[in-house]
Amino acid sequence: MPRPMKKPTPLVPAALAMTLVCSACGAPDAPESPRDDLATTSRRGATFEEFLSTVQRDSNGQYVYDGDMPARDMADLRRAWEQLSPKDGALTVDQLNAALDNTWKNGEQLNLSYCVSNDFGANKQAIVNAMSSAGAAWGAQLLVNFVYVAAQDANCNSQNTNVFFDVSPIVNAPYTARAFMPGYARAQRTVFITSSALNSSWPLAGILTHELGHTLGLRHEFLRSGMCYASSEPQNWRGVTPYDPGSIMNYPYPECGGTGGTSLSQSDVEGVSQLYGSRVLARPVTATGCGEIAAGKGLGVGELIYSCDGLHYLSFTAFGVLQLVKVIPTSSGYTYQTTWSTAASTSGQAGYGMYMQGDGNLVIYTGLMRPLWHTYTGGRPGSTLQLQNDGNLVIYSPQGQPLWNTGTGGQ
Ligand SMILES: [Zn+2]
Repeated sequence: MPRPMKKPTPLVPAALAMTLVCSACGAPDAPESPRDDLATTSRRGATFEEFLSTVQRDSNGQYVYDGDMPARDMADLRRAWEQLSPKDGALTVDQLNAALDNTWKNGEQLNLSYCVSNDFGANKQAIVNAMSSAGAAWGAQLLVNFVYVAAQDANCNSQNTNVFFDVSPIVNAPYTARAFMPGYARAQRTVFITSSALNSSWPLAGILTHELGHTLGLRHEFLRSGMCYASSEPQNWRGVTPYDPGSIMNYPYPECGGTGGTSLSQSDVEGVSQLYGSRVLARPVTATGCGEIAAGKGLGVGELIYSCDGLHYLSFTAFGVLQLVKVIPTSSGYTYQTTWSTAASTSGQAGYGMYMQGDGNLVIYTGLMRPLWHTYTGGRPGSTLQLQNDGNLVIYSPQGQPLWNTGTGGQ
């Protein structure tokens, strides 16, 4: 998060080769309000040089724009600038491209170990406690684990490979705290905290819960509202849930429309459960074979099942929409036509899984087991979902009676 700061000192490209640009030296502790920053950080339509003039540089050589958004190198900065163009329509996750969320892909989120530098001195215990609260908040209902390794505190820096990241103090930085994003290498994985974070109107545990949200790939929620710093951030994001002013990823200032700030909202938990998994609700047992989803089976995000002739498939997309797709052979390959979907009911919500329940009801739940959509066919134990070769999706009772269908036969 940014500390409401003085107007950034221009950082000209020629200066970027320097090891350290002390762009915020002497930044006042009682700075201007975020509203003032809003006027100075609006960079929609800016040239790259104008964008660079708002960029700060940390003592470890990394660049920081928009308060607390890190960039590893000049190439990262260039990408950030290139993505500054406005985005139409669509908790908020970073994206590598329009189809791929920027999340940890190899299970790193299950052991996000960290040390807390002894250099915090008298403030260290407060940092340890707040990190513990922040990590526990994310890990309580979600399949992510932040693990404190106190034995590494005496050597807690970005070179220490015995931990996934370090939590270190920084002085003369233009923010109260900042973190890193998925995909960053060890040397770039530091949560920096300034002494001002201990005296902020935003409680320290809330600040660090927000920063740990960035480490999971989350972007600022105010990107959705256009408030605050929204126009100065790249638009490579997607909304995992509907806009949530109470998200921990908003800033809890009126200028930013924030209403939360101290703890995770329901949308925060539902959104991250789609990305990484939930402790509240197990992923569905994946249906196998073709043409049928039996009672007790289902589809998780990104999974699909084909009709037995291979000319239709039922997909629960990575973004949580259930859709029926017709595969049309052509002279040069295939084209695909969506014949039915739950998008109108579930679009924008953090769908987590599609479950063909033992009671006969077909349900899409969030990771907090909140039903987003269902077929109202409960009370018929043993019913199955059939994806027929004619393109119709039908729930049949054990006696073979059709209970529900998409009406897409013959399409
Ligand atoms: Zn932030």
